[in-house]
Amino acid sequence: MHLDPFELHRPATVDETLALARELAPGFDYLAGGTDLLPNYKMHLNVRPHLIALDRVSELQEYSLDRLGAMVRLADLDRDPQIARHYPALAEAVHGVATPLVRASGTVGGNLLVETRCFFFNQSYFWRASLGFCLKADGDRCHVVPQKEKCYATFSGDLAPALMVLGASVEVAGPEGRRTLPIEQLYAAEGDGIQRVHLRPGELVVAVDLPPEGRHLHSTYRKLRARPSYDFPELGVAVSLRREADRLTGLDVAVGGLETYPRRFPAITQPEVGQTLDSEGIGRIAQAIQSAVRPVHNTAYPPDYRKRMTGVFVRRALTDLWAARGAS
Ligand SMILES: Cc1cc2nc3c(=O)[nH]c(=O)nc-3n(C[C@H](O)[C@H](O)[C@H](O)COP(=O)(O)OP(=O)(O)OC[C@H]3O[C@@H](n4cnc5c(N)ncnc54)[C@H](O)[C@@H]3O)c2cc1C
Ligand code: SF4
Repeated sequence: MHLDPFELHRPATVDETLALARELAPGFDYLAGGTDLLPNYKMHLNVRPHLIALDRVSELQEYSLDRLGAMVRLADLDRDPQIARHYPALAEAVHGVATPLVRASGTVGGNLLVETRCFFFNQSYFWRASLGFCLKADGDRCHVVPQKEKCYATFSGDLAPALMVLGASVEVAGPEGRRTLPIEQLYAAEGDGIQRVHLRPGELVVAVDLPPEGRHLHSTYRKLRARPSYDFPELGVAVSLRREADRLTGLDVAVGGLETYPRRFPAITQPEVGQTLDSEGIGRIAQAIQSAVRPVHNTAYPPDYRKRMTGVFVRRALTDLWAARGAS
């Protein structure tokens, strides 16, 4: 495996970055920590001749409890006790990403836009050539669900589900200006493993905004993976709740590692607000979410197992958060 030559551009401001993007489109990728993009380039997966590095763009480094710049490194979040104190789900999600070495380079923006994964895609060029290329790179068919229309590669970022249940939004900048969208709207539920985000050509993730209410939530992120020291999620479950006395005053569940996009379940969780969360209610929510998710067979664990574990993880997370001392 080797990296083909590319031309590296290093702008200093968002405006310079967007001007470069306009000039080089569509032959470029943004480069953050490179921990996802460059291994994919080494496997000759959708390589572009130009990379626009974001490491000198100071606005993207902004860091506070309210706002995480796209270039904030995961290791900085991981070692920040204020993140662990105020946003437990985010801290647990960050800590579970890859290894310390990867977290030292990996960034918030790169994690949100990490490439979708599939057993038939994350392989060397020669491996893929011997089987026949697929829709996601160089080919015209899918090996997972045999057809020629849709890619089922799995969204495997850890941060997105956690940020969803904390009510985060994302600011993006592009040729038509800036806009802010709830984090779940960054992802294309109607898309597939290729058309996976709602970003217009050249648009750049600038920052993630965390609302102050997120600090009053009890939250957690649970991850299923083959090797706990290292692997991408086979399933990631984020839950947040608020309670007053014995009533729920807020509830949110999001999952990743199952489908082509990370997903929230407001139709299942919202009717529970105002109720007491007893074991029957917890079982009902867990079962409904388990029934709703549709993993396919393109990661290490079989889809039936990931589906069943979704119910198990939701039930355990809800039980623990509801029982947490002083939940309010
Ligand atoms: C061994 C290994 C294990 C891993 N395990 C996990 C894991 O468990 N969980 C997990 O979530 N990830 C995992 N990863 C993937 C990756 O390391 C992380 O997701 C990381 O956070 C990606 O961030 P990055 O800055 O390196 O992104 P990059 O590789 O630089 O970029 C990723 C993608 O995002 C785009 N991009 C980056 N920043 C922006 C921006 N600001 N605006 C627009 N586009 C942008 C790039 O163009 C590229 O398409 C793993 C990687 C490795 C090598
Ligand atoms: S789901 Fe199908 S099209 Fe998508 S990467 Fe896998 S084999 Fe390729």
